[in-house]
Amino acid sequence: MKRRSFVKLSAVGLVASIVKPALAADEDMISDPLFPSYDGEAKMISTWSHGQEANRAGWKLMEEGKSSLEAVEAGARHTESDITNRSVGIGGMPDREGHVTLDACIMDWNSNCGSVGFLEGIAHPVSVAKHIMQNTPHIMLVGAGAKQYALKNKFETIKTPLPEVKKEWEKWKKEQAAIAKKPEINHENHDTIGLLAIDDQGRISGACTTSGWAYKLPGRLGDSPIIGSGLFIDQEVGGAVATGLGESIIRIAGSHTVVELMRQGKSPEQACKETVERLIRKHKDMSGLQCAFIAINTKGEVGGYSVFNGFNYALKTKNQDVLVDTLFDRKW
Ligand code: ASP
Repeated sequence: MKRRSFVKLSAVGLVASIVKPALAADEDMISDPLFPSYDGEAKMISTWSHGQEANRAGWKLMEEGKSSLEAVEAGARHTESDITNRSVGIGGMPDREGHVTLDACIMDWNSNCGSVGFLEGIAHPVSVAKHIMQNTPHIMLVGAGAKQYALKNKFETIKTPLPEVKKEWEKWKKEQAAIAKKPEINHENHDTIGLLAIDDQGRISGACTTSGWAYKLPGRLGDSPIIGSGLFIDQEVGGAVATGLGESIIRIAGSHTVVELMRQGKSPEQACKETVERLIRKHKDMSGLQCAFIAINTKGEVGGYSVFNGFNYALKTKNQDVLVDTLFDRKW
């Protein structure tokens, strides 16, 4: 085929796929032999203690018969709206110039995914990511383009930083903290929410949303909006999400690594552990380098593991609503 006609055809294809998404997220694919029927129970796991409330918000939807995709979105939205949370959504910490820039992504059992990065002034980045996934041929929009897309599609706007967050930032500015100083990531008030859910049909979805590293350089993206780093789902195997120092997680494509280790037969916990060990091998300076992964497989088994002690994840099932402390490689 001549290049010109190929370009012409591609353009037609692009327009067609803008009009109609490649694969509707809720389209059922359970009849596919790759996806045997699921006889386990629905389950939701989310990073850190704020994951408990997020799980409850998502669980409500699964109880109403909605999919794991709707559940992880609802859970993420709940945390994005929490004005007391300093690491996600409206209450998030700004970059060093005082701008709160949000990153999020979402992925479903059909390997559909969407992502936004460096998005300012929009209440629910996770829903923008889902909208991109379901309505465009693209996966990732960032910065001004992502904002334009969100506004055009009438997503709710917010004013950030919140006054109390702005005060903290002004104090920090006065102290002239150096950018080389690594953040204290292991504190309960500074961590991404990553969510994974399996619904009663066995469909696995995940989402991740964050304001990222407080006082980061403007334009910085961490792992959280990057499919394969902050989140990865493969319905043949399972899914994983990450939290912690994004630069380290990107370096080893963390969530994808967890899923690939599960593909090799490792349990979710073992896969998270080996991924943490790989991450540690790639870093000489471990100061402040807290990272953690949680994972779920197609049997509905879950697990997690962290570099340092202090990490936990929230688990919700029909009969359980608990926080689980994970095992870790080392103590602070
Ligand atoms: N992973 C996030 C980032 O690097 C931060 C976090 O999980 O605390 O942006």
